[in-house]
Amino acid sequence: MNKFLTDKVNNLAPSATLAMAAKARELKSKGVDIIGLSLGEPDFNVPEFIKEAAVKAINDNYNSYTPVDGYSDLKNAISRKFLRDNNLNYKSSQIVVSTGAKQSIANVIEAMISPGDEVILLAPFWVSYSAMIEISGGIPIVVQSDIKSNFKVPASKIKDHISNKTRMVIINSPNNPSGSLYNEEELKKIADMLKDHPEIFILSDEIYEHINYGFKHFSFASIPEMYKRTITVNGVAKAFAMTGWRIGYLGAPEWLAKACTKLQGQSTSGANCIAQKATIAALDANIDQIKYMIDEFRERKKIIINLLSRIEGFKLNDPEGAFYIFPDISYFFGKTIDGFEIKDSTDFSLFLLEKAHVATVTGEAFGSPKNIRISYAASRENIKKAVNRIKNIF
Ligand code: GLU
Repeated sequence: MNKFLTDKVNNLAPSATLAMAAKARELKSKGVDIIGLSLGEPDFNVPEFIKEAAVKAINDNYNSYTPVDGYSDLKNAISRKFLRDNNLNYKSSQIVVSTGAKQSIANVIEAMISPGDEVILLAPFWVSYSAMIEISGGIPIVVQSDIKSNFKVPASKIKDHISNKTRMVIINSPNNPSGSLYNEEELKKIADMLKDHPEIFILSDEIYEHINYGFKHFSFASIPEMYKRTITVNGVAKAFAMTGWRIGYLGAPEWLAKACTKLQGQSTSGANCIAQKATIAALDANIDQIKYMIDEFRERKKIIINLLSRIEGFKLNDPEGAFYIFPDISYFFGKTIDGFEIKDSTDFSLFLLEKAHVATVTGEAFGSPKNIRISYAASRENIKKAVNRIKNIF
């Protein structure tokens, strides 16, 4: 607590994913051999054709402020991408480019959530949704799921949590942190249920769309009755290994796109010009050009599940998307191992960090206190080494 800071900031929890990554970095800089499986960050280089587009943009002297909502040629590329991959028709005036999908989501929540408004989150949910809702004075309403249901929440359970204060439901498929994928039928059931609640909006976070080993990705906004009240968020960070380039975007009703542009115009002024130009190359590319990364993630998933399933106490499922596994490790709660008392998943994650020097993220940050998130966006060698170290501390 600091009396010079607002209650909003004093009460705000730091991002658990970024905090763990920072902790791992700090330990590494002190010479500790940490294996980082905490951050959702592809370890591949940015594909050459994207780098070339960025270099060209620099040489072509793209230096100036861009339009707040993004270059028009980029917005046209996004429009083509939405149509090609998602069967979605978003005109340029419905698209806003931001500094990462994270800012796209923050803009929407800031634009739509007033104090006391409720937003339904399907646990496990990405850490920053709840924080962003709280910053706006909104109330996150968490609907639980567990590993038995592959971390998916059925429409009927969402319905039970709707009140006259519900403004929004956030759907994230493929999901961070569980890797679960909602199929078309499940999403249509949610849409059917929402027909009785015409004032509720749906924020569909599709940033992991291409990190998908299951069935074809289905966009919620492609359900005709839902189009007008769905915000589709995506970006290039995960599929194109461009996390640090910070380009995200949304497709939304025009009035909301305008509101997000107004907000952004008073905060960041728009996203980085070079990264925007490079994003055009990424989005216009044939998706086969990144298949090698998805294939590699699929292999790594097999390796990590196979190795971890041999350790007693790790309850696992086989997620169909993203690059995380989310084991239930509640078996260890109440045990003291090597002098380390494990009361909850935060203790367990710290235990792995301290004793095995493997960084993970506590499930508590994602609203699922029985689990931990392990990212396999790391080399096969590091995955094997990490699991081996984990095995050796029990
Ligand atoms: N989305 C990634 C993760 O969950 C990046 C970190 C963050 O912004 O939370 O690890």
